[in-house]
Amino acid sequence: MSDRVNSLPFFYGNITREDAEDYLRQGGMSDGLYLLRQSRSYLGGYALSVSFRRECYHYTIERELNEMYAIAGGKSHRTPVDVIDYHSQESDGLVCLLKKPCNRPKGMQPKVGPFEDLKEKMIKEYVQQTWNLQGAALEQAIISQRPQLEKLIATTAHEKMPWFHHTITREDSETRLQMGSRINGKFLIRQRDLHGSYALCLLHGGQVMHYRIDKDKAGKLSIPDGKKFDTLWQLVEHYSYKPDGLLRVLTESCPRPEGENRGTHPSSINGLKSYTLPIPGRKKPTTTRYWMSSRCLSVCLSVPSNAESMPMDTEVYESPYADPDELRTSTVDRSQLFLEDGELGSGNFGTVMKGIYKMRKTEKPVAVKILKNDDNNPAVKEEMMREANVMQQLDNPYIVRMIGICEAESLMLVMELAELGPLHKYLQKHRQISMKNVTELVHQVAMGMKYLEEHNFVHRDLAARNVLLVTQHYAKISDFGLSKALTEEENYYKAKGHGKWPVKWYAPECMNYFKFSCKSDVWSFGVLMWEAYSLGMKPYKGMKGNEVIQMIESGERMNSPVNCPPEMYDLMKKCWTYKPDERPGFLVVESRLRDFYYDISSQ
Ligand code: AMP
Repeated sequence: MSDRVNSLPFFYGNITREDAEDYLRQGGMSDGLYLLRQSRSYLGGYALSVSFRRECYHYTIERELNEMYAIAGGKSHRTPVDVIDYHSQESDGLVCLLKKPCNRPKGMQPKVGPFEDLKEKMIKEYVQQTWNLQGAALEQAIISQRPQLEKLIATTAHEKMPWFHHTITREDSETRLQMGSRINGKFLIRQRDLHGSYALCLLHGGQVMHYRIDKDKAGKLSIPDGKKFDTLWQLVEHYSYKPDGLLRVLTESCPRPEGENRGTHPSSINGLKSYTLPIPGRKKPTTTRYWMSSRCLSVCLSVPSNAESMPMDTEVYESPYADPDELRTSTVDRSQLFLEDGELGSGNFGTVMKGIYKMRKTEKPVAVKILKNDDNNPAVKEEMMREANVMQQLDNPYIVRMIGICEAESLMLVMELAELGPLHKYLQKHRQISMKNVTELVHQVAMGMKYLEEHNFVHRDLAARNVLLVTQHYAKISDFGLSKALTEEENYYKAKGHGKWPVKWYAPECMNYFKFSCKSDVWSFGVLMWEAYSLGMKPYKGMKGNEVIQMIESGERMNSPVNCPPEMYDLMKKCWTYKPDERPGFLVVESRLRDFYYDISSQ
């Protein structure tokens, strides 16, 4: 959303109410002249400023929990632009209809808030420190979890600010403010307890005033009877340009003493026990809060307790072999593998069981694909070895990794465990899942597929049944039984003949010319998207394979699933472009999905 709003000519970014009034004045103050700006008190919210009868009126457009936008008490809309469109037709409580946008002066860009500049650096540092990630793993974590990370950072950003002095006493705050410069308006914030109570300490006329800041049930912060804010840094921003009930505006921040420059770590908050665990199996001996990460942080840092778990919180985000102390081997020692009762599922080769694999430093829960013993057919063994060979070459957070092959009572393929099982079944059982959550998972599949495309592999069996869930917020591509590595010379694989193919997922060139490429995987991805947005329905329900082929050849495509966002149906149709050369690749598909995902979940 933010990117799209940023490009609106009447969006001014992080300007104050007074600035907005100046711009409306410069614009002539005609009735219904309006501009949009970023809310300075609500995360992800906007403010609409309108002129009417030579007066300026300001309305907050809040971002609601269901990711819709509304002027308090008004009708909800999908985007702030929809709110504006609606109020151009209906005043519905507004002082007048919105008539004319007040565009930014030539050459002026929307004003960037102080936090925006810091944000990128903080996100990177936060992910590095919390999950001990580097390189591609770090980059992929940020891409897939940006909206969640931005929210987390925004609500903890104050800890980076020089004016935040953690849990010092009232007396200490006075001593600190009286030291050095004694300019009026010098201030700091101290933490009063761990439940969201703070104090704003302000120097005025040589005296220190203490204003209590409390958090209400909705998590909003305010001084008694004052304006409410989502974050401390927004509160400081506000009182830095307007006294609004304080004795005076905030002027200069009282810096924390040297050596107290703490980061966003929960362990670094004064008076808090350091929740550090030595984590076996991590790259370096480290004290990262691996097990406690975002959920623990939500407690320690008063982040909303509904913070969702992230892929990086799980044990399968990075390869077990990312730790140089774990020997990278493609063979698993049977004596270190412990199978548990009960099947996870069954496939062409036999059953898939849950197990534990004891590595040098850690124990990994694993999924073990066991070749049927009664199968004397060497071709089946060969097929499994081919699958293992492909999987061994892949290392991406959004692809099920192979841990090794174990040759014992049966041939066994040991893989990372994705305990929640296939995507389509999960969606069928959890129909209350949000579109944002579905998009998050589909985007992760696109990230995994982009990786395959970059490494010249074709999957050839991409479907919702072959996407396994580690958590409700973490998907991995599995089943590489039909996959092929492409050669440098040829960007497609030509099958010798027809096989037992998942026809409903196959592109026309697969059926007509037996040609498989990353572009034919894109076609399958479109079908997978359809399955996901229809919450696990069967594609082309009730149709036979040859009827589907005829339907596709005649130019017809599946209808949009009910409640599917139009942007996503549009992308599916792009994936079903008849000619592979005209079909987008995963580079484009992933970026379209990423934009949409950020759009619907931006702060
Ligand atoms: P497949 O033979 O690969 O189609 O696997 C058959 C079924 O076993 C899947 O549909 C899953 O329910 C289950 N399964 C396969 N691999 C895993 C895994 N890595 N983690 C959890 N379950 C799995």
